[in-house]
Amino acid sequence: MSQPPWMRSAAGANVYDHDSGTVLPTIYERTTATANQHGAVNLGQGFPDQEGPAWLRQLAAEAVGTDAGPSNQYPPGLGFPWFREAVAEHQRRWYGVDLDPADQVMHATGATEAITASILAFAEPGSEVLAFEPFYDSYGAVVALAGAELRTVPLRAPDFRPDVAALRAAISERTSMILVNTPHNPTGTVFTDAEWEEIVRLARRHGVVVMSDEVYEHLVFDDAAAPHRTVLSVAGAEEVAVAIGSAGKSFSVTGWKVGWLTGSPELVNRVRGVKQFLSFCSGPAYQFAAAEGLRDDRGFFAENRARLREGRDRLMEGLTEAGFNAFAAEAGYFVLADARQLTERPAAEVAVELARDAGVAAIPVSSLTLPRTQQEAEDELNHLLRFAFCKRPETLEDAISRLQAWSRRR
Ligand code: PMP
Ligand code: GLN
Repeated sequence: MSQPPWMRSAAGANVYDHDSGTVLPTIYERTTATANQHGAVNLGQGFPDQEGPAWLRQLAAEAVGTDAGPSNQYPPGLGFPWFREAVAEHQRRWYGVDLDPADQVMHATGATEAITASILAFAEPGSEVLAFEPFYDSYGAVVALAGAELRTVPLRAPDFRPDVAALRAAISERTSMILVNTPHNPTGTVFTDAEWEEIVRLARRHGVVVMSDEVYEHLVFDDAAAPHRTVLSVAGAEEVAVAIGSAGKSFSVTGWKVGWLTGSPELVNRVRGVKQFLSFCSGPAYQFAAAEGLRDDRGFFAENRARLREGRDRLMEGLTEAGFNAFAAEAGYFVLADARQLTERPAAEVAVELARDAGVAAIPVSSLTLPRTQQEAEDELNHLLRFAFCKRPETLEDAISRLQAWSRRR
């Protein structure tokens, strides 16, 4: 069988094995498999190693088990009306954005489906799609599936701010979309008002659609420079932007795959057109529990943020003591660390060594970028590792003592 056409794109480089001619699992699954194989502490794939709130899980369990409903049959393609109302109410309460739940909110099977449907809806074949780099891996794959080309603007250490002037320089009449992820995976950057306003101005001037992936919206730490704001709260954004959220991150239930998309009726309608031929619909009981949680999180968002911040601080300290140059994240699940004080080898190789010899799995940031050219081999993005801190304190302590022991042995 020949190589699948989209694998020939830049995005394919991270998941296609030319020797065996097979498509590989994502970097997240590969890293989890490597961690399991070596008995390593898994700070690679970003998922909490404890369950989300018991009351939320109880609501889903009751919803599956009771004849009072919601029914376990197909929900509407857009999601249940009360789910859409809960999302609209959440956006109003947190961001002051008014949305009509009838046609401005759509349920999706995780943020992943909302991302896929948005890109397939708006990225014209042959056009260019802009994203900040590193980027969530599905962006590159889906842009390629859409027959478009991904172009990137790097976020640079130490503060990983978006370079809006570079974005302005990269935009052209071929650009169909700008993909923004704020708070950002893996850097933790939270886009400021000024950065957002310029991105929206550019998008309006060039008639391109902005997709804003906001799955880490409730994981912004109290020392972040700015609070998170949804793109739809930026003046003029409603004509050009869609925003995406996820219960997986907001409630520590990453396997639930309850996502949502908001925007103008016209843009939501276009995305729905694709979404109805992907999953069509899913998870009635999870929609029920997520809707209840969005209406009243019972203090979970604040507790979770505080816990994650402690994890971030401890992991930063542990990585620094082990000899890495670690960067503070304003939000999210991850600390980035440069390994060059320890070794000149690229992070992709260091990650293999860490899993095998230190017993700690991490993700090389080069898996979340376009493949680097030869000249770019020295690029700092090739030397960064991503460590997840969304883990219990004892898991982090175990990882830190292993990393420090490894560092001492070198
Ligand atoms: N976007 C980003 C930036 C992510 O990190 C993730 C993974 N959590 C997703 C989207 C996917 O979210 P979901 O699990 O809801 O599909
Ligand atoms: N979002 C998670 C991460 O960035 C993992 C998602 C996945 O496994 N596809 O680690």
